[in-house]
This record gives sequence, structure tokens and C-alpha cells, in this order.
Amino acid sequence: MRKTAFLYNGILSQHVLSNTHPMRPIRLQHTYDLLNSYGVFNESAVRLVCPRNASKEELSLIHSQDYIAAVQSLSRRTSEFMTDEYGFSVGGDNPVYQGMYEAATLSTGASLIAAELINSGSVDIAFNIAGGLHHAMRSYASGFCIFNDPAIAIKYLTDQGKRVAYIDVDAHHGDGVQKAFYTNNNVLTISIHESGEYLFPGTGFSNETGSDNADGYSINLPLSPYTNDAVYARTFEQAVIPIVQAFKPDVIVAQLGIDTYHSDPLTHLNITSDGYEKIVQHIIGFNVPLLALGGGGYDVLAVARCWSLAFGNMIGIDLPNKIPKSFAERHNLNLLRDTIQIDLTDDIRDMVNNTAETSIEYIKKNCFPTYKIN
Ligand SMILES: [Zn+2]
Repeated sequence: MRKTAFLYNGILSQHVLSNTHPMRPIRLQHTYDLLNSYGVFNESAVRLVCPRNASKEELSLIHSQDYIAAVQSLSRRTSEFMTDEYGFSVGGDNPVYQGMYEAATLSTGASLIAAELINSGSVDIAFNIAGGLHHAMRSYASGFCIFNDPAIAIKYLTDQGKRVAYIDVDAHHGDGVQKAFYTNNNVLTISIHESGEYLFPGTGFSNETGSDNADGYSINLPLSPYTNDAVYARTFEQAVIPIVQAFKPDVIVAQLGIDTYHSDPLTHLNITSDGYEKIVQHIIGFNVPLLALGGGGYDVLAVARCWSLAFGNMIGIDLPNKIPKSFAERHNLNLLRDTIQIDLTDDIRDMVNNTAETSIEYIKKNCFPTYKIN
């Protein structure tokens, strides 16, 4: 069995961004509870690891001193800082809430511990479901994200001499991570997402391929609304797998957001638990040390099911489809995997196929040569 770490502490799910905010940290507790009901934390190869808060020095691997100070001050509500200058607003995507500095440094610290465990070889895979906050920028909050833990963890790993491939399967473009490494050919960033034509943050188009010496090291695969499992898997298999294999990373950092899910309230893709599980299996199948992070996901019980499926695959256990009684009764939920069949009309199927084909062909033509892939 692979040596695997799961980063968790109940404190990670206790903060509330606002009463109406779609990002509900309770989904983390549901995921932990569901996995616990299956008894996975009793497996000898699984380590349940408590996170720590990231330090200011660690945050400054990616973020500006001004921004870090502003978040800390706003968090204590003792600020003279203007909130909008740093991406915060009342009732918007990034509300200011008491204790947000501690909450954000804890989820970031969890990603850093995961990165340390991978870097030292203590584990083969580490999963921080509280991480994956890929929209945060150097000097401002964005898209529910305060500190960009994937970018901070990647910077830590490259400082240790590692070559890193970042694979982002969240429904939204991984813009903050892309930006942090856009001119760095020691980091490959790949984002497969619903097109920015339809969805926040409005970036992640095929022609964003990196610059300076890193042209070809930023890969974007925008997809159409309604994209289903089959097209999603084909896009990953044809465009992502050959590039990751040719890049030969020492470590893969994967953002496993599950807002691609068919019932997710914020997005328009049609991915089921089967489609999600297949992509996770591909990522594990690279057989490279893996730092796995959470990310988006706003149908909270679907998040718990899909991240549990992902962790089952990481430890190499096929979790029984029947959810254990203790969790099933509390949440009125019986099966781990979807039974839904998603049918598309001919017009929509054509749109979905054509968009994916265009994205795949662009990468084959413009980025495969960087890796000498035929
Ligand atoms: Zn997202």
C-alpha cells in the first residue's frame, strides 16, 4: 500500500465567510466524517496529520508584505487599510471576516506540511482537502481565495530543487498559480476548466502558453458548458497525459476541485463521480509523488463523496458503494457513486465535442513541439 497522509483538523471547517457565501467549509468536515465512517484512518499506511499555520516568511514566497499585513489587520478588524485595494468587499466573493488570517494561514500551512512530507519522501501522496485556493494573487484576494497555497507549496518544492507539474481540474481556471509561474520553465502548469467565456475568472484561453523561456509550460484546456465525462476524459488523455510524461516532474501538485460536478450550483459542466474518479486515477497513475489539494465544490455532499473516492484511490482501496450507516443516516445519503446518466441533445453534444477538439488541437500544434511529442 502507498504511504499516504491526510491533513485535517476540525478547526479547518469552523470558519464562516458569510451566512450566504457559497464556500462552506463544513464540506471539509463532511469529507473527513465520511472517510472516517469507512475506517480509512485505521489503515496502517495512512497518516492523519494535524496542520500548522503558515508563517509570514512562507506566505511571502508568493505574496507581498503589504498584502499579508493588510489581511492580518483586516482579520482583527483593527484596520486602516482600504478593503477594496486588496480584493475584499462586503457581500462580494471575498468578504472580510474575523479570524480570516488564522483560517487562511492554517489551510496554507496544511499544504506546506503536505509538501514537506512529500519532499522528504515520508509519504508518496499527501492530501490537503482544505487547500487548492488557486485564484489568490500576489497582492489581492480573488475568487474566495486569500492565500495561494498551491503556488506557495510549489515555490517551496522548487526551492528544494524539485521540478513540479501542477494539474488543476477545478471548473475554474487556475489563474493565480499560472500567473505565479508564467515565466518559469521549471514549473509546468496545466488547467482544464470551463471556458472563461462563460465562467469566472474569464481567463485560461488556449493561447496563454507561458512567456520568456517558459513558452509551452502553461497549458490551458477550456471546455464548453455541459461537457460530460467522456469528453473530459478524452481531453485529459490526449492533451494532458503526454505533456506530463514528457516533462518528467519530480512532484505533481494536483488541485482536485469538484465544482465540475453536474449539480454544482456555480458552474455548468456535467461531470459525475465516475468521470471525476477516472481523472484522479490518471493523476495517481503517473506514479510520481503527489501533493493533492482540494479546491472548489459547492454541492457539499457531492464534495464529500468525490473527495472520499479520490482518497480511496490514493490509498489503493476501492471503497464500498454503500455508505456506512452512521454517515448515511445523518445525511440521508446511501451511495458513494452516482447512478445518474447524463444525456445531451445533438446540438449540445456537437458544441461540447467541437470546443474540446479545438482546445486539444491547439495544444498539440503549439505546445507538443516544446516537448518533442509527435
Ligand atoms: Zn472552482
